[in-house]
Amino acid sequence: MSVDFDAVIVGAGFGGMYMLHRLRDKGFTARVFEAGSGVGGTWYWNRYPGARCDVESVQYSYQFSPELEQEWEWTERYATQPEILRYANHVADRFDLRRDIRFETRIAAAVFDETANLWRVETDKGDKVAARFVITAMGCLSSPNTPKIPGLADFKGPTYHTGNWPHKDVDFTAKTVGVIGTGSSAIQSIPIMARQAKHLTVFQRTANYTVPAHNKPLDPEYVRQVKASYREMRQRARTKPAGIDFTINPASAIATPEEERRREFEARWTYGGLGFMASFSDLLLSDESNKTAADFVRSKIRDVVKDPTTAEALMPKNIIGCKRLCVDTGYWETFNRPNVTLVDISDEPIERVTASGLRAKGKDYRFDCLVLATGFDAMTGALLKVDIRGRGGVALKDKWSEGPKSYLGLTVVGFPNLFTITGPGSPSVLTNMLPSIEQHVDFIADCLETLRSKGVSVIEPVEEAQEAWVGQVGNAANITLRSTCSSWYVGANIPGKPRVFMPYIGGLPAYIAACETVVNNDYEGFALA
Ligand code: NAP
Repeated sequence: MSVDFDAVIVGAGFGGMYMLHRLRDKGFTARVFEAGSGVGGTWYWNRYPGARCDVESVQYSYQFSPELEQEWEWTERYATQPEILRYANHVADRFDLRRDIRFETRIAAAVFDETANLWRVETDKGDKVAARFVITAMGCLSSPNTPKIPGLADFKGPTYHTGNWPHKDVDFTAKTVGVIGTGSSAIQSIPIMARQAKHLTVFQRTANYTVPAHNKPLDPEYVRQVKASYREMRQRARTKPAGIDFTINPASAIATPEEERRREFEARWTYGGLGFMASFSDLLLSDESNKTAADFVRSKIRDVVKDPTTAEALMPKNIIGCKRLCVDTGYWETFNRPNVTLVDISDEPIERVTASGLRAKGKDYRFDCLVLATGFDAMTGALLKVDIRGRGGVALKDKWSEGPKSYLGLTVVGFPNLFTITGPGSPSVLTNMLPSIEQHVDFIADCLETLRSKGVSVIEPVEEAQEAWVGQVGNAANITLRSTCSSWYVGANIPGKPRVFMPYIGGLPAYIAACETVVNNDYEGFALA
């Protein structure tokens, strides 16, 4: 069988689009397969009310093209989902990407043929293609988690999942609505749904920390300044652990006098956004320091929420920043509305969904519509839905049965010529995804070019290098408080999923340095054949 493409790319979100562009630039042939009918990945599927990015728009954008940076106009501090989707479409058109993307087509299987050194790829539409490389760009939060609550299929009204929202406007006006979940998606959508609905009932299993976004229209003068100094801003961001250009206060929270500490928290709170966790450098390293930040947020909830029982239930008890910090607009205030009820289900799971609502803690709740804001099978979910088989026909699903193991979060022993953009073992979800995606894509494109120039047809990590990297990922995780709670970072939200802290938490600069060392040492840790 002949080779159809140098590379098959799975997914046309920000990773897949840039990968296609870079490979074409270098003279490789590539075909992208995308399940949706358009580009945008996460931003194509997550159309729930209030969806917006919690990284500032001028930073959550591509940097590979200075022309694109200059011509695109972000309108708000935090871009809405529709605006980000327009941006993705603009990129697809500007770089003429669509002609190599096959939409509404899922990859069903990818099997490595050891005799021909080719990947044989099959789609759900019956396509069969052969490619030298398979590059997954499926996103880290793209496999929606529908919890196995008894009776879910019995509900007579419409059920919506935030991660797979309909492509038409869903209007909750005059409707009663039940929402399960209080993660980022819920925290963004609840205030908006509450303004529409006749009544909204929120079922909360774990109270979550959120900080105000203080979103606003972008001041044209600020945009002008950013555009004049984009390179410097991007460079500064590369030196920050999360790849986001904000200032980290090097002081320890607990070692800082109380009044000064409060001033710092207050200043960050007033500014808004994820930079709150950079108020002090040890918030995720010391329980005592963490508690100062957690207490500060809890005091804010107490100030805002009028009903003391509701306020108490909304106060998170765990470590702040252990689960992903949320960023909101008017979330706590929403619980002062007469048409919003909070049901604390932290001590007893939902009994069952019924035809007209659900039953929890011995009580029946009735509503017209059900919203599942129940998150994703993160980081490995989408990858493992595809039947990926490497050497000896071994399935990736089996290889990762005790948790994902990779070299640099990009490659896996036994799966030659397979690259996983923002895969488990890379910083990905702990960073601004756009620069992390670009760094991975550049690594892969440069690697393919090097292989071509050396006449090498197969690249695969060696076991010792992978083990050493897995060790580094684990060691980094053990240092921080972030690995200590039941979050999707450790797979705790999916029953039966192995408990492994999946992303690399050593920070983007350390990660980039590790990748550069590998390249500078002639792809150290890889076997080239
Ligand atoms: P999530 O953070 O995993 O939240 C899911 C929620 O559903 C949690 O409150 C969870 O409770 C609850 N839940 C799940 N199964 C349940 C069950 N059987 N019964 C009751 N409650 C249940 O998911 P998400 O809100 O979609 O966010 C996922 C990630 O996507 C975020 O952490 C973030 O990285 C990203 N995201 C980003 C943005 C943004 O940029 N602004 C917006 C949305 C999402 P437990 O906590 O008890 O498990």
